[in-house]
Amino acid sequence: MRILVQKYGGTSVAGLDRMKQVEARVKKGLAEGFKVVVVLSAMSGETNRLLGLARQWSANPDLSECDALVTTGEQVSVTLFAMLLKDAGIKCRSVMGFQIPILTNNNYGRARILEIDNAKLLDMLNEFDVLVVAGFQGVSCHGRLTTLGRGGSDTTGVALAAALSADVCEIYTDVKGVYTTDPNMCSTARKLDRISYDEMLEFSSMGAKVLQIRSVEFAKKYNVPVRVRSTFCDDPGTLVTQEDELMEDVLVSGIAYDKDQCRITVFNVMDCPGVAAAIFSPISDAGILVDMIVQNTSRDGRTDMTFTVSRTNLEKTLEILSRDNKDIGAVEVQHDLNVCKVSVIGVGMRNHSGVASMMFTCLRNENINILMISTSEIKITCLIEEKYLELAVRALHDAFGLDRAGGDRVC
Ligand code: ASP
Ligand code: MG
Repeated sequence: MRILVQKYGGTSVAGLDRMKQVEARVKKGLAEGFKVVVVLSAMSGETNRLLGLARQWSANPDLSECDALVTTGEQVSVTLFAMLLKDAGIKCRSVMGFQIPILTNNNYGRARILEIDNAKLLDMLNEFDVLVVAGFQGVSCHGRLTTLGRGGSDTTGVALAAALSADVCEIYTDVKGVYTTDPNMCSTARKLDRISYDEMLEFSSMGAKVLQIRSVEFAKKYNVPVRVRSTFCDDPGTLVTQEDELMEDVLVSGIAYDKDQCRITVFNVMDCPGVAAAIFSPISDAGILVDMIVQNTSRDGRTDMTFTVSRTNLEKTLEILSRDNKDIGAVEVQHDLNVCKVSVIGVGMRNHSGVASMMFTCLRNENINILMISTSEIKITCLIEEKYLELAVRALHDAFGLDRAGGDRVC
């Protein structure tokens, strides 16, 4: 049995006309001899609307009830779509997460998939040509409905493709694919034909919304080829796949940015063993992700510690620091909200030096001051003032030749 998994996002199912376009794509898959597993999101805006209701009803909505509430968004999409297909004479049925079941832990709002029983799915696929599966949802070991985090239908799609050993997981959205950078910010941004899992992970972790980061982790772990493409045109989109030599030949694949950042500096902490642990343990215990960290060299046994957190976590972090700063001897904490991160990403830099200096030189030529720097094997990130973000993205895009097919080649 050849199985195709197609996931459609909220804008692709936002009304009857749009669903008709999805129907045409599903029919194409059937005509090519596939059984089709269609994973749908809630209609665009619906998940936000439901979460808004929860906040209206309760100052602090119960998380398990919230999950049960928002799963209804996907239930509406799959049942309506199954009706359309049935009217077109297609043998299909709607399937909710708990009916498979997609078993998750009970971390409501951000549950992780533990297991998918493919026997039941394969049985259903013997009986039906199309399964219309609700994305984003699962069921916990205690039988409660759960959700997989915002954008979680991508993960449902990739997880089902892995469980069913599908040929490919197609992620249909309202953009043509993955771009070298945000096309709204840089008019010369190009759609990439292919990108490696690791590069896509870096793009997603920088807040590029095209794929949920967990779906990319899943795809990498189970080696599922993922094709990101548009519902509304025939462009083949971008293939997210294993790295190969051709990808390594390109110095930089794209420029990503993240505006949801703020910088915090803790001045004059003692420079002795245990200080970093004392600062960061309570922050991570509160579930807050700390990103870039810089510790200055010490003077007279004292040092400054600077780091970034997302803006939504600023208040909580400051509160924790003011509570705990007696132990670390800190006298002053400052923060800055007018900052953002800009990164160059590419597997090509694994084996080639000079990318960092090209980036720094480019920013210097635009007179942009670098506030912090961090690097990984395939990413270099600079923290800069937010007002320079667009300028930095465009200048870097140009400097690395990303407006030209293939970008700058390594030599
Ligand atoms: N409907 C959910 C959300 O808006 C899941 C998804 O669309 O992927 O986050
Ligand atoms: Mg999405």
